Amino acid sequence: MDEPGPDAELDALTRKALRHLDMTAQLLAAQRAGAGPARRAPEPPPATTMPAPEFPHAGTARYRCPRGCGWWHDESTDPGPAAVILPAGATGDDVGTMLSMNAHAQGLAYQARVEGALARHYAERH
Ligand SMILES: [Zn+2]
Repeated sequence: MDEPGPDAELDALTRKALRHLDMTAQLLAAQRAGAGPARRAPEPPPATTMPAPEFPHAGTARYRCPRGCGWWHDESTDPGPAAVILPAGATGDDVGTMLSMNAHAQGLAYQARVEGALARHYAERH
């Protein structure tokens, strides 16, 4: 079977970026219409199995097994760059909205990584 060439890879990346732009435009339109999550009343934080972190050194949060077996999971506290692609004509408010939504998504991903590591540990050891 032939490997995809650089043109096919570029086409795939372009399609992915266009889908992302389309989703972004839809989210921004929903925000402007008052239907988006930023305009709703604040929701309570989701329930989590995450224990309170320790910070053994700068840039690292450590989550120890709540059962005290000595296991832990480390996560970087650096959220990394914001993954926001804005459509042409985006306003300053749009940028703020998208950065806020991106930060929220990064927070959920962080929580999912910690909870997933803890769930795998429980399945293996407890
Ligand atoms: Zn444990």
